[in-house]
Amino acid sequence: MGSKLIRGIAESGQLRFFIGETTDLVEKARKIHETTPVSSAALGRLLTASSMMGWMMKGKKDKLTLQIKGSADISHIVTVSDSEGKAKGYVSNSKAPLKLNEKGKLDVGGSIGEGQLLVIQDFGMKEPYIGQSELVSGEIAEDIAAYFMYSKQEPSAVSLGVFVERDFSIGAAGGFIIQPMPDCNPFLIDILEDHVKRLESISDIVRKSGGNVSKMAEIILEPFLFEILEEQEVSYTCDCSRKKVEKAIISLGKDEILKMIEEDGKAQVNCHFCNTNYVIGKERLKALMDEATAS
Ligand SMILES: [Zn+2]
Repeated sequence: MGSKLIRGIAESGQLRFFIGETTDLVEKARKIHETTPVSSAALGRLLTASSMMGWMMKGKKDKLTLQIKGSADISHIVTVSDSEGKAKGYVSNSKAPLKLNEKGKLDVGGSIGEGQLLVIQDFGMKEPYIGQSELVSGEIAEDIAAYFMYSKQEPSAVSLGVFVERDFSIGAAGGFIIQPMPDCNPFLIDILEDHVKRLESISDIVRKSGGNVSKMAEIILEPFLFEILEEQEVSYTCDCSRKKVEKAIISLGKDEILKMIEEDGKAQVNCHFCNTNYVIGKERLKALMDEATAS
């Protein structure tokens, strides 16, 4: 079963929500990067946020990059998503050692440590939007909520979770973002805050719902009258290609390409996001050199 997002409104549009079931998406990331449980949880949470936040963007060609810079076992995580919620990412340390917090859960915050969250929204031709904030806890959901609050003045309830099985596969992953609209009755915000505090973990909700995102909504939005407006299938997708790699090589200029031909007789490029290894042979490099400009 594929991963899915839904979006909708509650209480006649006073709240808007995004809910995602991303078990498959995160499992694909785990398989590509062969991550250990803490690394899977950290990357999986950011990928889930990335997928939902990508889908929030209006322009078809908009791209969203989320980057976490940490100071402990994990020094950085990068995810990129598009306006259809397709996401890809990597984590600097795919083999972070097992660390548990006092609740006995995977200690993502402790494995990231102090640092920053960077949000880059690329609108194609226009100047990109760049927001940066200090990490609150490194648990990622709180850090994303703080970004919405302080960079966008949008108070938000955010939850992200990944459950890792004993064999390291991803048993459940998902998340939600709920935002009161500017005209929201403060009473509803109180109910929302109170309800979110009492909710079980998002990965438990995913499991309880059998991965059915509409059933997840019934639990997450239980006190509210809500309406699902749209559904979106999402996946872990890398858009790299030999053509893009060759374009990047051409942009290096004639001298650099000549150096590659003379020193290695080939060029090797590894995609960080999907681990595909591209090897460009000598003859092809010569052809690319003809297309490149002298530098
Ligand atoms: Zn790739």
